[in-house]
Formats: sequence, structure tokens, C-alpha cells
Amino acid sequence: MTAKIISGREVAEQILTTDLKNKVIALNEKNIKPKLVVVLVGDVKASASYVAQKEKFAVKAGIESEVRRFKKDVTEDEILTVIDNINNDKSIHGVIVQLPLPDHISVAKVLNRIHPSKDVDGFTPTNVGKLFLGEDTLVSCTPKGIMQMLASTGTNLTGKNVTVVGRSNIVGKPVAILCLQQHATVTMCHSRTKDLNAKLADADIVIVAVGIPKFIHGDQIPEGSIVIDVGIHNIDGKLCGDVDFDSASIKASSITPVPGGVGPMTVCALIENTIIAAERIG
Ligand code: NDP
Repeated sequence: MTAKIISGREVAEQILTTDLKNKVIALNEKNIKPKLVVVLVGDVKASASYVAQKEKFAVKAGIESEVRRFKKDVTEDEILTVIDNINNDKSIHGVIVQLPLPDHISVAKVLNRIHPSKDVDGFTPTNVGKLFLGEDTLVSCTPKGIMQMLASTGTNLTGKNVTVVGRSNIVGKPVAILCLQQHATVTMCHSRTKDLNAKLADADIVIVAVGIPKFIHGDQIPEGSIVIDVGIHNIDGKLCGDVDFDSASIKASSITPVPGGVGPMTVCALIENTIIAAERIG
């Protein structure tokens, strides 16, 4: 079997230029102009390219975006004041703080300062709690994008076995909750899981977010399963994921590529969350 490629790039383009663009037009007619602010601290090369992609996607959907840049020696108090000002600015509907932050700034303190209604990354305790309870909320972007990619394959998750490898707060845990909400049976694995291969063996869907290049190989992938590779690594100038694409794509029925898979969907979900926030805040 050679797997069908689930192109995040194509799914994102479709969502951005149809659904989201139409929503923005409807909002503009009510004189609401969705606006995203990205807070960027320091000079991290990877952050700069993520931020550039966010700006590009904002343009595609027709929303405003602004990057507020700060030197790496900016104080925590200064950043907290920036967040307070954004919270109180009615022209701004969504804010994200690009991670990582320098060590002298507490990530938790800064993220918790964002008003939940503008927390388009879905990281605040309020929004995470609502997700857990199944309430309407701003769902964090990578898990949201993964669910949209699964939906694009026409897969009904009811009764499906989903194995999630990685239990981070931003990917593994929330995507597991979202799969549960769609009635899948979810197995969560992490660094202390015993016999990972056994946990993968009966998976219909495998979601991998471990942060180790080519960690999962084709011989661990069940024949005909759907594979979502969240990882992204630059090895000698070439990008790869947490899954060994060549061997896994021989076993899977569908697989996400790296690049062009989960990455663009994450950014698309961020733009969508900004539009949702604008619809709610007005
Ligand atoms: P974290 O480092 O926060 O979490 C990694 C998880 O993998 C942990 O739960 C860890 O387990 C688990 N793990 C580590 N080693 C093993 C192992 N040997 N066996 C099983 N599980 C293991 O990573 P993130 O979730 O933040 O990110 C994962 C990857 O996805 C990274 O490459 C990151 O760059 C990428 N990413 C990509 C995004 C995109 O938009 N494309 C967005 C977010 C992330 P334990 O908890 O026990 O330590």
C-alpha cells in the first residue's frame, strides 16, 4: 500500500480562502475587522519564520495582523503590561505570545494574563478547562488543525482506536480529548509507556507528537491506518517529522507530510480562532 497524502497545505488553503474569507466579509459588513496581534520577544530564527507564515495566512483570510517585537532583555512586567493593554484594546480580537520566551520571563504568568476571550492559542486555564468539559471554547491550534485534517479524509472517529504518542499540554492531551469527544477509543503514550508497539498495533489512527526525528517507523504502523505526524525537525537543512515518512507511507492508508502537513493547519486554526473571537467579542 502507498499512503494517500493528507496535504495540510491544501486543506488550509481551502479553509482560508472560502469559509474563513466569507466569515471575514460578513464581519466587515458589520464594521468588525478581525485583528490578531503576535507578541515576539528576542531574535529566535524559527519564531521569525512561524510569524511570517501567520502574517501570510492572515492576508489570505483577509484579517489584520500585527507583530509587536521586543528585545530579549524586555522585563516580565513590561510584557505583562503589553498584554493588559491588548486585553483592553477593543480593536484587537486575538493575541498570541510566540514561544519560546527568554528564561527571565515566566511563560505561565504571561499566558495566564491573556484574557480568555482573546486567547486564540487556547492555552489559558479557562479555555483548556472548557475544552475538557466539552464546552464551546477557543481550541488550541495544533489539535484543532489535526481534527480538521482527519475530517478532510471523511473518517468517522466513532469507535475508532486512536493512539496518541506524546502527552504535551499543547498537542497530545488536547488532541486526545477532541478524539474522545468524537467517540474514539484513545490510548495515550509517553516516555514511560511500556511496550509502545503493542499500543500502536490495533490503532486505526496514529498521532505522533514526541519531538524526536523519525521516532516511529513503518514496522510500528498498522496496515491501513491513518498517520498524523506533528513533529518538525531541521536535519542538515532538510525538514522531517517524528515519523519515518518513507517506511510509514508503505503501511498507512493516509499520512501527513512534513513539511506541508500539520504546520499549515496549525496556522490556519489560529486565523480561524481569531475570526471566532471577533464574532464573539464584536
Ligand atoms: P513536548 O516535548 O512537549 O512533548 C513530547 C512528548 O513526547 C512528551 O509527552 C514525552 O513524554 C513524549 N516522549 C518523549 N520521548 C518519548 C518516547 N521515547 N516514547 C514515547 N513518548 C515519548 O513536545 P510537543 O508536543 O510540544 O511537540 C512535539 C513535536 O511536535 C515537536 O517536534 C514540535 O516541534 C512539534 N510541534 C509541531 C507543531 C506544528 O504546528 N507542526 C506544533 C507543536 C509542536 P513525557 O511526557 O513522559 O516526557
